[in-house]
Amino acid sequence: MACPFRCVFCNQQKISGHFKSPDFNEVTRTIRTYLNTFKAPNKQVEVGFFGGTFTGIPETIQEKYLETVQPFLQAGEIQGIRLSTRPDYIDKNILERLKHYGVTTIELGAQSLDDAVLKKSRRGHTAKQVEEAATQIKAAGFDLGLQMMIGLPGDTLEKSLATADKIIAWGASNTRIYPTLVIKDTVLHHWYKEGKYQPLSLDEAVNWSKSLLIKFENAGVQVIRMGLHPSEGLLNGEEWIAGPFHPSFRELVLTEIWYDLLTKHFDSQDKSFTAKQLNLEVSPKEINYAIGYSGKNRKMLQSFFREVRFYSNEKLDGREFRFHLT
Ligand code: SF4
Repeated sequence: MACPFRCVFCNQQKISGHFKSPDFNEVTRTIRTYLNTFKAPNKQVEVGFFGGTFTGIPETIQEKYLETVQPFLQAGEIQGIRLSTRPDYIDKNILERLKHYGVTTIELGAQSLDDAVLKKSRRGHTAKQVEEAATQIKAAGFDLGLQMMIGLPGDTLEKSLATADKIIAWGASNTRIYPTLVIKDTVLHHWYKEGKYQPLSLDEAVNWSKSLLIKFENAGVQVIRMGLHPSEGLLNGEEWIAGPFHPSFRELVLTEIWYDLLTKHFDSQDKSFTAKQLNLEVSPKEINYAIGYSGKNRKMLQSFFREVRFYSNEKLDGREFRFHLT
């Protein structure tokens, strides 16, 4: 609605999949529709305002949007509000307003915390501004999210890992990792056509994200999302020109984490395995990733075991696994 910036990767309207901002009644209808689908007791429901710079839109419109949520908050049907904005659209007054309307989480599009990458991407803010905004958000008692992108112009794996270190150090409880894509009619699209920008390959993006995910997990920072939502425009290739888009991007990353775990544990050169059946027990939440996207890890193990079977075991946590050979 209001973003005056033109980051090189962004075509706001096309990314959000909407061509106009929702009107206030539509917000109410959308919340009601979704609430009706949540049946579980003790549910934790939040309303999210995403897809632009919420605190950059006119104050009266921000307030009207936030007012639409108040009846749901007061009735206890919703427990919080989260929104995304830019780091340079945070100040004391803005934070007071958000607090007043029951906003609980603020996510900042940090994208990179390397000033050279920010400059090349024409973000219009510095890493220092992200740090200052993060400090204010935390001091005002909000939950902080810092979103990052990988593969922006000038980015390297080392720079992305350093960005993750700052996200952790500055107190974010959650993050999102978005591989940079070339979207139609963006500056990156022109640069790509002129050979001035080359996106990460899918393998590179998966490998970078793997290292980042492990770093965030070790620090207790929740990675809410990896990869763009597969909205229709991207899936049918109308808007997505190039770059590491995959509808199951997170699954690809988790598959690689399991691939590393399993190859570390089972030596493919051990000739005694060819006569054996491997029975692997994994937690139900992880079993699909252990087997791997398109069965990648199962196939890898099958290449040197006589037979491989996966079993769910609810007693196992995280990426713990047990096995026995028969
Ligand atoms: S600030 Fe956000 S919405 Fe605005 S151009 Fe940049 S990425 Fe797009």
